[in-house]
This record gives sequence, structure tokens and C-alpha cells, in this order.
Amino acid sequence: MLPCAERVVASISRRLFRSYLSVSSRRRCNITAFMPEAAGFDGVSDRSTLQDFSVSNSEKFWAAAARHRLSWIRTFDAVRDCDLSRGKIKWFEGGKLNVSVNCLDRHVHTCPDKVALIWERDEPGSEVKVTYRELLDMTCRLGNLLRRRGVKRGDCVTIYMPPCPMAVASMLACARIGAAHNVVFAGFSAEALSERIRDAQSSTVITVNQGVRGGKLVELKKTVDEAVQSCPTVQQVFVATRTENPVLMAARDVALDEEMLKEDVVCEPEAMDSEDVLFLLYTSGSTGKPKGLVHTQAGYLLYAALTHRYVFSYQDGDVFGCVADIGWITGHSYTVYGPLANGGTTVLFESTPIYPDPGRYWEMVQRLKINQFYGAPTAIRLLLKYGDQWVRKYDRSTLKTLGSVGEPINTEAWEWYHTVVGDGRCPVVDTWWQTETGGICISPKPSDPDAEIIPGMAMRPFFGIKPVLMDTEGNVQSSSDTSGALCIAQPWPGMARTIHNNHQRFIETYCQPHPGYFFTGDGAYCSKEGYYQITGRLDDVINVSGHRIGTAEIEDVVNQCPVVAESAVIGYAHDIKGEGVFAFAVLKQGVDTQYGDVSQQLKDTVSKKIAKYASPDHIQFVKRLPKTRSGKIMRRVLRKIVEGDLEGLGDLSTLDDPTAVQEIIQGNSELC
Ligand code: ATP
Ligand code: MG
Repeated sequence: MLPCAERVVASISRRLFRSYLSVSSRRRCNITAFMPEAAGFDGVSDRSTLQDFSVSNSEKFWAAAARHRLSWIRTFDAVRDCDLSRGKIKWFEGGKLNVSVNCLDRHVHTCPDKVALIWERDEPGSEVKVTYRELLDMTCRLGNLLRRRGVKRGDCVTIYMPPCPMAVASMLACARIGAAHNVVFAGFSAEALSERIRDAQSSTVITVNQGVRGGKLVELKKTVDEAVQSCPTVQQVFVATRTENPVLMAARDVALDEEMLKEDVVCEPEAMDSEDVLFLLYTSGSTGKPKGLVHTQAGYLLYAALTHRYVFSYQDGDVFGCVADIGWITGHSYTVYGPLANGGTTVLFESTPIYPDPGRYWEMVQRLKINQFYGAPTAIRLLLKYGDQWVRKYDRSTLKTLGSVGEPINTEAWEWYHTVVGDGRCPVVDTWWQTETGGICISPKPSDPDAEIIPGMAMRPFFGIKPVLMDTEGNVQSSSDTSGALCIAQPWPGMARTIHNNHQRFIETYCQPHPGYFFTGDGAYCSKEGYYQITGRLDDVINVSGHRIGTAEIEDVVNQCPVVAESAVIGYAHDIKGEGVFAFAVLKQGVDTQYGDVSQQLKDTVSKKIAKYASPDHIQFVKRLPKTRSGKIMRRVLRKIVEGDLEGLGDLSTLDDPTAVQEIIQGNSELC
């Protein structure tokens, strides 16, 4: 039986042998063509020396990037003033800028008719294109309307809208007049919405009459009506029109489209300080009560723009297809702010991966000629179940880069994404980051064009990011080829500044566990070559008879079993082993087999591929797993079910489908 680290190394070496992209002919890049501001950096000749420079000369690197990439009203006096141990994070102080000007006006000067947004509406083939000029007009009208209706600099506006141009204009209108926004995913219940409105103390909410998703109408305005009943701060609700159907309008409701038309298309942008709040955003709630993380103006925008360009090799003229909802940080950074700051064309996806059929994504790729596609492992696993024919039917030759985010991507899903979706020719970038980090921190790119990409590994830190791994005693692991708690050793501009109304919780969660470092809460392995692999959330690490193992690793093996669609693994108290392994598995559609046989097969596979101790003690077959609305598995709920603590299931406001939990509770009581 191999110790944990060796086992991981063995599995990674196996993967390395099957290296997907040739390492033999590594091309060197012209560094100035790659990143113009790097021209002034001493000793920087390629991307890897640029990476070293960005970490050891962090202030110089970020100052040059900030000057080059952002348009300032007044340039900054200091690059950074940070003390991670006290939760003090300030970048580009003294600088003044406006984020909406950076995302719109400057591109309108150079290319007003360029398409900024492609709104991929629910019904395939009904997309709407919005140019930079049009988006600026919408944003200005909306900004003027908000101002006229009393929204001021420093207020916080809650936006409860599906991905649509009006939602983007709402975010940018807030930025234009200096208000913060709080986008709440438009799939949340009235209760979850009201909790977030109350926490953000919003007096203004922006919504649409109805949403349309997967061929169904979603009563968004009704949900807002219900939510604001318990939100005494709310004074006005702006209602945009998505469908023809009228909705009841109360005295506080304002018909957004009509009122906007009365406004001017010129709206004076507010000169914002670099450290003024741009938005708050609640986390997915996978591990506990969602936190309202605060991001500020300059640092966030710079980081979103730079990561968008370099992680995805985004070129001017490309069509960027991030299918995340704008209610999540991925939608903020890679549907809205990153692409627009770069003057790009970005897709707003309103539908679902299986509407009207499981070919939806790829039909969209063909029709919109998408060059970069960015999605979540949960959707990839779902589509994989339906078979290759749904992909192969469509022309995907425009695709250049495929991205994955949100959870570890298991090997089977990675390979399918790479070989079937990307025809084996598009790099797959597994991007690790969090709501807290503002943008991607670890991903295979940027790297030299032909550098290797290892399946299921996030691999390389982004510019300015210095990851470290802590051992269980809290010491920095000095050598590579080790696992530990993933921390980041120095601040970067995109990181969150605080938790709204609760700086103490921010300090306790991220700064105190390892003073002087940003603590991510995730575990990682660093290979001999210095590549990182995320092993899952530290809460999800199981300690079986003294062997520590990440749930992601066991799930990866379980998922490789041909009949399994997806799985979730948790640890439970075990008298002898300390913790035992409990697996929940969803079988592929149409699999007609005996659970008992599959159970044994899964246990044997884990024993063989990892170790006997990692083999599940129990396997429960379920129809679906409990997931957050953003598609992440909520293992904490499964743990409580197995412990029999049904009273202690915790905050379920972000749970996608409560019936999944009921089914599992019932199945579990029958099993045990
Ligand atoms: P909460 O913090 O409320 O529990 P959450 O952590 O799911 O919710 P997000 O900020 O949306 O909220 O997700 C960030 C987390 O998602 C990361 O900390 C990590 O656990 C996981 N994650 C994101 N990308 C990856 C990836 N590429 N590989 C592995 N895990 C990832
Ligand atoms: Mg988190």
C-alpha cells in the first residue's frame, strides 16, 4: 500500500506518460508580443521568467499591468498596502477610475459597432446581438434613471435577473453611478433572495417580469414580491420585460423599459476610488452559510481582465462563451467584467445544457462560432451520459480553448471534454479559483504554447500568485511532491477585501488559520514539476485508519466505472477506522444492472486503483445528488444524512432540488 503522496505521484506519472500535448517542441514566445508591458521587466524573456518576475516583483508587475490595461481618471499613488494577517488589503490607492468607462466608453471610441454581447436566449436561433454603442446607451439611460430615483454612490442595488443584456447594463449602470451591486442568482427562492437583500441592506431591486429557461416560464417578479415582504429596506423594484405577459405592479414597482426611454444616453460617470466597493456577491454555500464577499473597483477589474485574456488565450475578435449564470462569480468575471474590459464579444447563456436537447451547447458553438467555451464539470458529466452523437452532430472547428470551473473535473469527464468536444486539438484549462479570489488563480495557461497539460490538474499559478501548501502542523511545505492545505502567500489585486458587514468573519475564515497567508479552505498536491492538483475541500478530506484521502480522488475512480454517471463520497464516524468511506452513486441512464454487482465492482475498482482502505464501506445508489444551484455537490448534507442528524442539515437556501435530499434520506434509512 503506497502512502498518500506516493500514490498521487504514481497516478500523476501514469497520466504524464499519456501526455496529451507534445512537450518535445516547446516554443518560446516573444514576450513583448505576448504581454506588451513586460518589455520593461529586466531579465524577462519568456512566460516562465515572467511568472517568476510577477511573484518576486509583484508591485512592479501589477503597477505596469494597471497602467497598461486600465483607463484612469487619476493615476494611483501607491501600488499596494496590505497586511494579510490583519485582513488589510488595498491596491492602487489614490487612483480614480470608472469601471463602466473601462468596459464600455473606451471601446465605443475605437469600435462602437463591435458586438459586445450575444444574448443566447432560451429558444435556439433567437439570439440577440448588442454592440458596444448600444450597451453604453442602455447603461447610461439606466444610470440616469437610478440616479433620478435616488440611488446614490455607496448604495447597494440587488439585481435578480437571468443572464440578459439588461442585467449586464444594470451591473454597469451601478458601476457608472458608484453604487455597488448584489446580483442574486435568479433561481433562488424568495427566502434566499430576501435573506440576501436584507444582508445587503438594499433599497432598490432590479428584476424582470418573468424568466424563460428550458422552455418554461419562471415567475421572477412574483418571487421578488414575496421576498420584499420581509425586507423593510426595499423602496423600489424596477421591472424589466422579458415576456409579453403582464405582471401585477405595486406602488413601489417601476416599469424599467418605459422609464429608461425617458432618459438621456449620456450619463456622467462617477470618479471612483480604487478601493470603493464594486459589488458584493454571496458564495455558493457548498460548505455552510453563504458569505457576502466584497470586491472593489480597480484591482478586481484588472485581475478579471488579465486572467480572461491569458488563461483562455483570448484574441481580439474571438467570441467568448462562458455559460455560467451571472449570479455566480464566474459569470461576473468571465461573462461580464473580464471580456468587456478587454473589448471582447461575450455570450450570455439563458438556457440549460439539455434544452431543447443535449446538443444545445454544441449547436450554439456552431451557430455563434464560439472560440472559447467555459463550463462546469457537472454539465460535462451530464452531457457525457447522453453520448457522443450529440456533440459530433455539430461543427466545433471554431473552438480553440475549453475551460472547466467549479469543482474538480474527474478524469473521465476531462478526457471526454478533450477528445470528443475538443476533437483532441483544443487545450482544456481546468481553472481553480473561488468567489474570494475574484479570478482564476491556478490553471494550465498561460504557459508556452506547446507546454504539457495534464488531465484534471489545474497546474500553474497565474501571474502574481504564489501558492503554498501547509502541513497539518501549519508549516509551509518546503519541497514539492507533497500535499497540504492550499494557501496563497502574497496578496493579489483581485482578492476579496472583506465579508459584507462582517470583517471579523473574513479575518477568522481566511487570515487567521495561517497568519500572513490567505487560506483557501481547499487541499492541493504539488508535483515534482511544481504543478498543482486540487484534491478537494479540506472539510472533505477523509482520515481512514490514519490515511488522509480527498473525496475527489475516490470519486474520480468511482466515476471511471462505465455504468456510473457521477458520485459523491463522504467520511463517517467508524469505531475502528476512525472514519469510514460512504459513496453515493448515480448510474447512467438506461443502465439495467443489479446494484449488488455494481457495488462490488466499485469497491474492487477503488481497492485496485487507490488502496484497499479507500474502498467504500457503503454504497447508496441514488437518482440524483444534492447540489447547489451552481451545480456543486453538497457533501455536508450527505454527511448529516449518514450521521442521522436530519435536524442539523444546515443552510439549505442554495440547494437546487430538495426532492433529491428527501429521496436520499429515504434510501438511506432503508439501507442502514
Ligand atoms: P461556500 O464557500 O459557500 O461553501 P463554494 O466554495 O462552493 O461555497 P465558490 O466560491 O463558488 O463557492 O466556489 C469555490 C470553490 O469551488 C473552491 O474553493 C473549490 O473548492 C471549488 N473549485 C472551483 N474550481 C475548482 C477546480 N477547478 N478544481 C477543484 N475545485 C474547484
Ligand atoms: Mg468556498
